[in-house]
Amino acid sequence: MTDGVIPLLDLRQSGRALTVPQPLPPARPGPWLDARGRPLRDLRISVTDRCNFRCSYCMPKDVFDKHYPFLPRNEVLSLEEIARVARIFAGLGVQKLRLTGGEPLLRRNLESLIAQLSEIRTPEGLLLDLTLTTNGSLLARKAQALKDAGLQRITVSLDALDDAIFRRMNDVDFPVADVLEGIARAQAVGLAPVKVNMVVKRGTNDDQILPMARHFRGTGVTLRFIEYMDVGMSNGWRMDEVLPSSEVLARLREDADLIPLAPTAEGETATRWGYADGSGEIGLISSVTQAFCGDCNRARLSTEGQLYTCLFAGAGHDLRGLLRGDALGEPRTDDEIAAALGTMWTRRGDRYSELRASMPAAEAGSARRVEMHYIGG
Ligand code: SAM
Ligand code: SF4
Ligand code: SF4
Repeated sequence: MTDGVIPLLDLRQSGRALTVPQPLPPARPGPWLDARGRPLRDLRISVTDRCNFRCSYCMPKDVFDKHYPFLPRNEVLSLEEIARVARIFAGLGVQKLRLTGGEPLLRRNLESLIAQLSEIRTPEGLLLDLTLTTNGSLLARKAQALKDAGLQRITVSLDALDDAIFRRMNDVDFPVADVLEGIARAQAVGLAPVKVNMVVKRGTNDDQILPMARHFRGTGVTLRFIEYMDVGMSNGWRMDEVLPSSEVLARLREDADLIPLAPTAEGETATRWGYADGSGEIGLISSVTQAFCGDCNRARLSTEGQLYTCLFAGAGHDLRGLLRGDALGEPRTDDEIAAALGTMWTRRGDRYSELRASMPAAEAGSARRVEMHYIGG
């Protein structure tokens, strides 16, 4: 792949109708498998398309300015609709829910959603893994309420320890000290384990790799380095700004003894490495240089109820239409929606990252993709 700057397109209205099979198939005993044999285990839910940061790799200021048409309220799924969808997904085999956005802590009454989600059980009666990804700006204030509502753990995005670099990357002059305070509060209230995600952009924050690693080593926080991805159409992604995880690892290993750790779960996105002296671990998420589509078990629900079976999909499936009946007539029952979702999943063949590796640059750059802030990470 060579360089390619990605132009802007708005894909939010490009949903496909999600159809209910007739007659309904009988309820299935096992998990639904997609066309490549992958089960559905992980649902990521974007609770808002708005954010108080303007990270250049996600919501660049010149695109997401005061004229940007964020979703009107009536198009956004209600908290009850989200909880209902999550219950249906749990019945289909989902074991893990991640709330994201936009910035999820901006969503009003988020705690009430978390309380509803924490009541959901798998068909075997097990609790779901319930977590959230946040930029940390409101976390110091909200950590206790999130924990009390039933959130189990949390991931905080933080791209630099250096205040000037951090302020530049969030592009709203937000100080790093407030995010660090949020991380400390999350640890103090027991939102454990806290993970910190750092998107690495060559030439922008790669000099922060070692300071970040040293800062979090021995604190119980797992730091994960994410390759800068070509998600969305508006971040002007260029391959030469991607720092491959292999290079991140080489830099880390010059500083500390690291040993590979086994994956903890099927479909895990990060490769794990532990400090030889037992002072913690780091993760590498190599979405660009090492495709991990083979066991990708994730679906993503956008703020307005479009369902995406791949982070790089050009179109979603209109789930809100089934919930509200505004696309296909009558609102549908849980069984009908489950049947539609199950059928959709069995047809899923997505493997964008695998294909990208062999795609000509122009093709990879011009493929239509939905924005990250709209379906979350
Ligand atoms: N606002 C929250 C946050 O920043 O944590 C949640 C939503 S954000 C879209 C979720 C994750 O996606 C963040 O960790 C962010 O760093 C990551 N992300 C956004 N754009 C990205 C890109 N182009 N490449 C890699 N990661 C990206
Ligand atoms: Fe906002 Fe998160 Fe995107 Fe940054 S990465 S602009 S914090 S949604
Ligand atoms: Fe999953 Fe799509 Fe990412 Fe592959 S490219 S790992 S299918 S989200």
